[in-house]
Amino acid sequence: MDILTTLQALNTCHSPSGEEGSVAERIQALAAPFADEISTDIMGNLIVRRKGDGPRIMFAAHMDSVGGMVTYVEESGLLRFGKVGGLHPACLPATPVRFRNGTRGVIAADASADPKALKLEDLYVDIGAVDRADALSKICPGDTMVYGTSSFQTGDRLVSPYLDDRIGCVVLLMAMERLQKSSNDLYFVFTTQEEVGLRGARTAAFAVESTYAVAVDVTAVDDVPGTRHAGSSVLGKGAAVKVMDRSVLCHPMMVQMLTRSGREHGIPVQRDIIQAGGSDAGAIHQSRTGVYTGGISVPCRYIHTPQEMVDVRDVEACAALAAAFAGMPLEN
Ligand SMILES: [Zn+2]
Repeated sequence: MDILTTLQALNTCHSPSGEEGSVAERIQALAAPFADEISTDIMGNLIVRRKGDGPRIMFAAHMDSVGGMVTYVEESGLLRFGKVGGLHPACLPATPVRFRNGTRGVIAADASADPKALKLEDLYVDIGAVDRADALSKICPGDTMVYGTSSFQTGDRLVSPYLDDRIGCVVLLMAMERLQKSSNDLYFVFTTQEEVGLRGARTAAFAVESTYAVAVDVTAVDDVPGTRHAGSSVLGKGAAVKVMDRSVLCHPMMVQMLTRSGREHGIPVQRDIIQAGGSDAGAIHQSRTGVYTGGISVPCRYIHTPQEMVDVRDVEACAALAAAFAGMPLEN
């Protein structure tokens, strides 16, 4: 499975939170050769099962991306918008965007706005409409947009929108592909609406009812200027085994087992501790009477901006670690 090609295929889908249908379809086609059963649920989660007699493990990666939703169309034809998930206003001006129906545009800021303290209300999207009627012939309030930026590789690094968390989806697909035999009952769940509060993972975890769970997502890094050690992981040092984020304190046994599993298979691992930002692990570990939950994270720079960055060697390590854990003998 070529990482960049798969990532690009997923990113051509228009799938911000709540509209994951097209990316789910694409992932389903890629997962089908490795699956015993595939189902979807009301929330739109895509649930791919590799049957086994052993304990049940749920792997989760979220399919949705952040985006914007049109709230108002100005007389001039310019669009005002709100956020779907976390957007940083300062990173948005001059970003190309696209809508589900193919309409394209660019984000700009009011000339009167203070560039040092940009708020979402200061921004608008220009789709090239000449007036409100022209804009409304293409777009209506409630329509969503995603970044129209591109994906490319430079050295060992991938630069792309929506590595959060399409790269996690790629990691799960790679893990399924490389997984040999496992007696564990494996559920690879591609979840919805993570960016607006881990909503899909909550219902999926209830349905799957697993003993163990691993959330695969990107994590903020400590290797860019000014991070002040709020996080712990760095690009190129391997799969980051989650200890905590704002939504979860991972079960110590999971941290230990994932770390050991990496060591036994010669996979580079590092620790993932972040203060801000959550993951599907946050919803899953509290499901029913509790689930032994951990996380495998891909260190990622510039999260939620139009161009995020990861290291392909970390992506490989995460896939290897997920496959190793999936094949690990576990107790029920
Ligand atoms: Zn994410």
